[in-house]
Amino acid sequence: MRKIPCRHLVLILGDQLDEASSALEGFDPAQDVVLMVEAFEESTHVWSHKARTTLFLSAMRHFAQGLAQRGFDVDYRALDTHGDKTLADGLRAAVAARQPAQIIGVEPGDMRVRGALDLAMNSIAAGAGNDWAAGQKHLINWREDKHFLCSPAQFRSWAGKSASLRMEFFYRSMRRQYKVLMEGDQPVGGQWNFDADNRKGFGRAGPQAVPVPLQFGQDSITAGVIALVEKYFPDHPGDLGRFNWPVTREQALMALKDFIDQRLPHFGAHQDAMWTNLDFGWHALLSSSLNLKLLHPLEVVLAAEQAWRERDLDLPGVEGFIRQILGWREFMRGVYFLDMPTLKTANHFGHRNALPAWYWTGETHMNCMRQCIGQTLTHGYAHHIQRLMVTGMFGVTAQISPQALCDWYLAVYVDAVEWVELPNTAGMALFANGGRFTSKPYVASGAYVKRMSNYCGGCRYEPETRVGAQACPLTTLYWNFLDQHEATFADNPRTALMVKNLQRMAPAVRADVRLRAREMLADLDSL
Ligand code: FAD
Ligand code: SF4
Repeated sequence: MRKIPCRHLVLILGDQLDEASSALEGFDPAQDVVLMVEAFEESTHVWSHKARTTLFLSAMRHFAQGLAQRGFDVDYRALDTHGDKTLADGLRAAVAARQPAQIIGVEPGDMRVRGALDLAMNSIAAGAGNDWAAGQKHLINWREDKHFLCSPAQFRSWAGKSASLRMEFFYRSMRRQYKVLMEGDQPVGGQWNFDADNRKGFGRAGPQAVPVPLQFGQDSITAGVIALVEKYFPDHPGDLGRFNWPVTREQALMALKDFIDQRLPHFGAHQDAMWTNLDFGWHALLSSSLNLKLLHPLEVVLAAEQAWRERDLDLPGVEGFIRQILGWREFMRGVYFLDMPTLKTANHFGHRNALPAWYWTGETHMNCMRQCIGQTLTHGYAHHIQRLMVTGMFGVTAQISPQALCDWYLAVYVDAVEWVELPNTAGMALFANGGRFTSKPYVASGAYVKRMSNYCGGCRYEPETRVGAQACPLTTLYWNFLDQHEATFADNPRTALMVKNLQRMAPAVRADVRLRAREMLADLDSL
């Protein structure tokens, strides 16, 4: 029976699919209603990959079905039945229909969403005039998101007034707090970080015996969402032919087990390596499940630690994996809430170039970009080094506007939610915040890509060539970037050696590099 008026209207957003969510604490099925809204704007404010939209909608529908089966009253506003343009539209309509005494939600992981929802409800509250109580009931009671291991307040206190933040120290405090990979107060193996052991290429033979990730198949909910996405967003980027992301907690738990059993033992050594048609390697493929909150970060960390203890796995690989979740993931979230809204507009280098059109199609002569973007369009996935050292690194040296690139990253990955996408893109990949948590920009020449992949073998360009028609754009633009920022790079001990190499270049060659770079920068679309 529909409850009107209801006591609590509990808003659950698409990346809050956690039955233990703080929004549901104290939920009384007899008096309260869950509200879930599918809104067009969430797929259009950036030009979302079809797989990203499919994942969110399918996971939301499965989650709502699970709640309904457990007796929750769920007001589900689907795109094809309600057609809400924005989340705020859906919320406003539900408030009018359900007349709640209180609206409850969990802090959104995207400040745009929070701002829009608060604004919508504030305007209704303001309309209540002098009736204080009527105004209050329209304000959203935001609860803390307990799905993370470090709250924004804890991170703020850890960061203090430091201008520069280092993940490594944060990570050590998290290891101590959660007693992960610890022997008393000391790290197991006598070291906090084994990253140096984790950066191997594949060698000439390429990757061997790569496990195939678990296949989930598509039930009628996912099939229905795929048809809906093809109908409403036909021109959006990406492909749905190989959609295989977990859409329920059960599937996410299966994906976790599959990773721990099959890929964790070899995760570390090759986590930075890339190879043609190697779409997933030994990576976890768990970011979308974590970000949708189908999995809890601590259960993932503890599953890896337990596997290491029970199966005598290689410590560097397991430590490296745990660091990504207990360290980087929590750190990025802390940075997001600490540095917003300025992070969103940060542009340390003042880069203004438009995003080349081939970022949306993969149709470029640069094989490394073609491979990484092609894989992104097929799956909505690329691993960290592909995002950082290929599409991201090109973005810095090609002087592309950080905001254009951030929008692209937010659009094309199935795991993209702003709290994690923005610090990774603007902060880590693009140095747009001036190195708030990185000691130098991540820039390298085509030689790096050649060392870590086989991409250069199938490319029209030559990684070592700096000028002329065969010049590798990554290489030319890298030297040009160093040339432009020579003084700053010379001052930084971590980049001083790069400048020494630049200074060994004959002045005439240096002038040719500048010239070739200028031609490339003037027509990025043609590369
Ligand atoms: P694995 O490489 O196997 O790592 C295991 C887990 O660690 C991941 O599932 C993820 O939850 C976590 N993790 C690893 N690195 C990071 C990191 N730097 N920040 C936060 N968590 C991390 N990750 C997202 O979840 N969403 C994004 O929108 C996103 N955008 C990125 C943009 C750029 C430019 C870069 C350089 C990185 C971005 N990352 C993002 C981080 C990272 O690339 C992905 O988390 C990872 O590739 C997901 O694949 P996986 O699950 O196979 O992870
Ligand atoms: Fe990329 Fe340059 Fe190698 Fe081509 S030659 S794949 S552009 S790094």
